[in-house]
Amino acid sequence: MKSVHPIKSVMPNLSEYDALYSGFEWNEERIHLDGLPSGKGLNIAHEAVDRHAESDLKNTIALRFINTERSTVDFSYSELRKQTSKFANVLEKIGIGKGETVFTLLGRVPELYVSGLGALKYRAVFCPLFSVFGPEPIFQRLSRGDARVLVTNTAFFEKKIKSQLERLPSLRYILLTDSQEHLADNVLSFSKAMEEASTDWVIGPTDPEDPALLHFTSGTTGMPKGALHVHQAVLTHYSTGKYVLDFHKGDIFWCTADPGWVTGTSYGIIAPLVNGVTSIIDEEEFDAMRWYSILEEQKVNVWYTAPTAIRRLMRMDICPKEAYQLDKLRLILSVGEPLHAEAVIWGEKNFGFPILDNWWQTETGGIMIANYRSMKVKPGSMGKPLPGVEAAIAEIKDNELTLLTNPGDQGHLVLKKGFPSLFRGYLHDAERFQKCFVGDWYITGDLAKMDEDGYFWFIGRADDIIKTSGHMVGPFEVESTLMRHPSIAEAAVIGKPEPSIGELVKAFVVLKSGTEAGEEMRRNIMGYARKEMGPAVAPKEIEFVESIPKTRSGKILRRLLKARELGLPEGDTSTLE
Ligand code: ATP
Ligand code: MG
Repeated sequence: MKSVHPIKSVMPNLSEYDALYSGFEWNEERIHLDGLPSGKGLNIAHEAVDRHAESDLKNTIALRFINTERSTVDFSYSELRKQTSKFANVLEKIGIGKGETVFTLLGRVPELYVSGLGALKYRAVFCPLFSVFGPEPIFQRLSRGDARVLVTNTAFFEKKIKSQLERLPSLRYILLTDSQEHLADNVLSFSKAMEEASTDWVIGPTDPEDPALLHFTSGTTGMPKGALHVHQAVLTHYSTGKYVLDFHKGDIFWCTADPGWVTGTSYGIIAPLVNGVTSIIDEEEFDAMRWYSILEEQKVNVWYTAPTAIRRLMRMDICPKEAYQLDKLRLILSVGEPLHAEAVIWGEKNFGFPILDNWWQTETGGIMIANYRSMKVKPGSMGKPLPGVEAAIAEIKDNELTLLTNPGDQGHLVLKKGFPSLFRGYLHDAERFQKCFVGDWYITGDLAKMDEDGYFWFIGRADDIIKTSGHMVGPFEVESTLMRHPSIAEAAVIGKPEPSIGELVKAFVVLKSGTEAGEEMRRNIMGYARKEMGPAVAPKEIEFVESIPKTRSGKILRRLLKARELGLPEGDTSTLE
C-alpha cells in the first residue's frame, strides 16, 4: 500500500534553494544551504529511503551487507522502506516518545541500519555506538545520551550492558537481534517485535530543526563530547555526497568507517542513500587484502576511507592497479586525519588518480573542506570550503576574533554559523558548547592556514601545538617530514616541557620492519630531520617504539603519549585502539 507523506521532499526541488549555494563554480548545478522555506518538513529518512522507494529506484540495491564469511544480503530501497517502517511501528508500540534516543550497540549488520533509519522516521534521535567499546564507555554514553531504547545482541547485552542496568534507570527497552523470544517485559526479541509490526508508516511532520542524530566525538583531545544534529543536516549530506563523493546514478560506494563514528553514519548511511546509490557495508574489521578484493569483487566506484587505511595499503608494497581488476574504481577519498602528500601521490601512481583529502568533524556533521574531483589537487592540502560554507583563519584573544586574511597566516580554523549540519549542542554541556563560538564564528579547535589560491592546509589541533623557542610547531608537519625518511614507518610528535625553550619537540618513531633501532639510526634520523626542517623545528629527542597509540578511528593520541611522557594520569582512554 502506498502511504501518503504529509511532508514534502525538498531534494528533487533543489532549485527552490537557489540562494544557498552561491559561488558553486565547479559544477553547473547551483544549490544553496540555508534558509529552508518555513512550514516545510524535512526528514532524513524520508529523503534517504521513502522518497526513492516511490521512484524508479525502488528496486535498486540500497544496502549490500557483506558478512565475515563473505556472503551478502541486499536491501532494495523498497525493502529498506518496509523494514524501517516496521521499526518505526515497533517504537510506537512500545511507547517511545518523539525526540527520545534510540541507541544501537551492534557490528555493521542490517539491524543497525534498519533501527537507525526507522528511528529517524519515527522522529526519535539515533545514536550508534561502536561495538567494541567496553562496559564503562558504553555506560557513559548511554547515560549521557539519555538512552530510552538500545538495540543490541545477546552477547553484548550479557557482557557489556546487564551489569549497568541499575545505573541506567531511563533505559526502558532492550531489543535483542539474535533472540527469538521476548526475555522479559523490557528485554525483547527484535525479530519478533518486527514480525508483528506493519510495513506501513507515514512519517509525521518533521521540522528541519528537530533533533535527529547524536554522535560522540573521537576523544582524541579528551573526554568524548555528545554532538547533537538536526534533520536538515541532510542537506549537507546530500550536497557533499553529490559534489565531493561525486555520486552518480548506478554508483557503488563503500565507506569503511563504522557508524559508531560520525563518518560511518553521515557517509556510511545517509549520504549514499539520499543520493540514491548502492552502498557496500562490510562487517569485517580492518584488513588490507580483504579491502582490495572487495573493491574488485563488488566493482566499487567510489571508496571513502581514512589515512590509517591508506598508510597500511602503502606499506603492503603491491601495485593494486596490477594485482587487482579495479577498473571501476574512479575515486578514493580520505578523512579523519591529515593525509600526507606522499599518500596522495602514491594514489596517483598506484590507482591512476590522486587520493582526495577532505576535512570535517563530528561537530560539523558533514564534509566542510575538500579536494574535489573537478579541481586541481594540491597534495597535502585539505582543499577548499564547500559552497555555502564560509571558512576562515582567525586569531582569537580574550574572546575577540580577528580574521587573518594574508595567505599563509596561521591561526584557528573557524566556520561561519548557518550551514545545516552544524551541531546544535553538546548534550548536557551548554557551557562547552558556548565556548565553541565567538560571535557568528564556530571555533573548530584546529589550526590551519590558507594559501593564495584559497586552499586550506592543516597545521594541527590547537591542543597539540608545540611552542618551542618562540616558534609554533605543528606536530603533523614534523611527522610528515619524518615519514619521508626511508626507515620510518610511523611517527608521532609531542611538545615536552623544557624550561629554557618552553617545550622541546619529541618524536616517537616506529621503524619499518627489518630496520634496527639504535644510536646510529637515531643519529641518522636526527641529521635528516635537521637538514629537512632546520634545527628549531627538528625533534630534539627521538624514542623508538613498537606502535603509536591511536583511537579506534585511527587518530594519533598525542595527549596520551604526552601524559605517559610526563607521568600524568592517562585521562579518558575509552576510544584507544
Ligand atoms: P575529540 O573532539 O573528542 O578530541 P576528534 O576531534 O578526533 O576527538 P572527530 O570529530 O572524530 O573527533 O575528529 C575531527 C578532527 O579530526 C578534526 O577536528 C581534525 O583535527 C581531524 N581531521 C579530520 N579530518 C582531517 C583532515 N582531512 N586533515 C586533518 N585533520 C583532520
Ligand atoms: Mg574534536
